[in-house]
This record gives sequence, structure tokens and C-alpha cells, in this order.
Amino acid sequence: MKKIIFLFVISISIVGCQKAEKKEEVKKPEIKLFALEGGSILVKKLEVFSQDTTYTGQTKQFANAYYVISHPKGNLMWDAGLPEQLVVDEPFHEPSGVFAIKRPDSLVNQLASIGFKIEDFKYIALSHHHFDHTGHANYFKDATWLVQENEYNFLAGDSTKVNPAIKNLTTKVKTLNGDHDVFGDGTVIIKSMPGHTIGHQVLYIDLGLEQPVLLAGDLYHFEENRATRGVPSFNYNVEQTLESMDKFEAFAKEKNANVFLQHSPADFERIKKYVNQK
Ligand SMILES: [Zn+2]
Repeated sequence: MKKIIFLFVISISIVGCQKAEKKEEVKKPEIKLFALEGGSILVKKLEVFSQDTTYTGQTKQFANAYYVISHPKGNLMWDAGLPEQLVVDEPFHEPSGVFAIKRPDSLVNQLASIGFKIEDFKYIALSHHHFDHTGHANYFKDATWLVQENEYNFLAGDSTKVNPAIKNLTTKVKTLNGDHDVFGDGTVIIKSMPGHTIGHQVLYIDLGLEQPVLLAGDLYHFEENRATRGVPSFNYNVEQTLESMDKFEAFAKEKNANVFLQHSPADFERIKKYVNQK
């Protein structure tokens, strides 16, 4: 009899374990990330990406990616590429003489290629408000804009600073004061990293791959910037940028994150391969 009871207890605990394991599996959300081409930027005067003369006389080709994050609780658009008016054959040489910019395709076409529509998005978040990150943002007037409060106030406080590409993002705004767990389960986290602009932010995404993804926004524009802690001439605050770099690197290390620079052509190719492992 003792033996029978013993076996009974064992079998109950095995069933219990299986149930617990099953529950664990159900809990893990299915998250996907798509990296899309929001245009390309030829930097004709690379010296603007330094506080000194390091890059004088140099040019560099930048990628300009934006990202779709699909989560069971909603979809998030991270950054919004270059303006759609640039979807023409010839690049546009903007008046300052620093950049030649173009965009390969419209948002609607690009979303359709991955099975999405504009209405499918619950959230939009921008690393910051510069023109190369806000191109198609106005389409997302029905999504909630996740923006640092100081970035929002900066834009709202002086009409001359308002970027027309985000003028429709007024009905649903969630202002943030620091880091924000977008879906409340730790898988997609906006990290406050000010300095490039007053409310610049980066994005952490745990896709369940070997390493979580960390999108750097414009904390770094290219690999050398990261290696040498280079700060562009046009940043809002140099000291804050350097502090954010320290914070970013410590966080990346803590999470063993796979870091991607959003303007790096090599990282654009690398992230597409990395997320396709799923
Ligand atoms: Zn940028």
C-alpha cells in the first residue's frame, strides 16, 4: 500500500511539473521585429559628427532604418524614417550642404510587404524628433505617441521648433519620465538616454533569441562614434550624451544585448539576419 501511495504522489508531482512547464510556455509572448528601410543619407560633411576636426573632409553613407515590433498586446512603430516626399529617383541635397537624402518606398507599401497596415499600430515611439526619424509619423494619429515629457515640452514650447512631420501626433500622447516598459512584461522597454536631444531614447526588445536586441537611436551614428565616444557638434548636451553612453554600455553589458546602430548600413543588414533566426 505504501508503495502505491508513493507512486501516486510521484505521478501527481510529475503532472504538476508538466502543468507548470506548460503554463510557462503559454506565458512567453510571441514578439517579432521587422527592420525596414526609411531611406538613406549620404553625409557630405562628416565633420558635423564630431566636436572637433576629426572628420573634416570625409564623407559617409548612412542607413536610415525604422522598426516594427509586433507583440500580442499591440504593435509598436519605432522611428519613422525620412519624409515620403523623398520617394523619387534623385536624392535631395538639403540646403545646408551636409546631407543628400532619399527614401526607397512609401510606408504603406513597406508595411504591406510584411502583412501590416497603419491601423494595426497601438503605439508609436521615436528615438527623437529629428527629420530623419519622423518622416511618416503623421500617419499614426490614432496610435499613442510614447514620448519623454521634456522632449514633448521642448517641441510644444516653441512653434518654430515643431517638426511638421509630427504635428498630427496630438490626440493620444503618453508622456514619459524615464524608462518605460511598453507592454508591462519586460519584453519591450524604452530607455531614456538624453543628450542627442533633450528627451532622446533607445529601445530594448527581448525576442526570445540568444541575446536581446538594443536599438541605439542616435546615441551613436556609426561604429567609430561608439568606439571613441564621439559626440556630434549639433547635440543638445555633450555632458548628458557622455552620461547616456555610460548608462547604455552598462545596460547592454548587464543584459548581454546585441546592439544595433540605426544609421549603420552593416548593422541594418545584420539585424535583418538576426531577427530572421526566429
Ligand atoms: Zn538620425
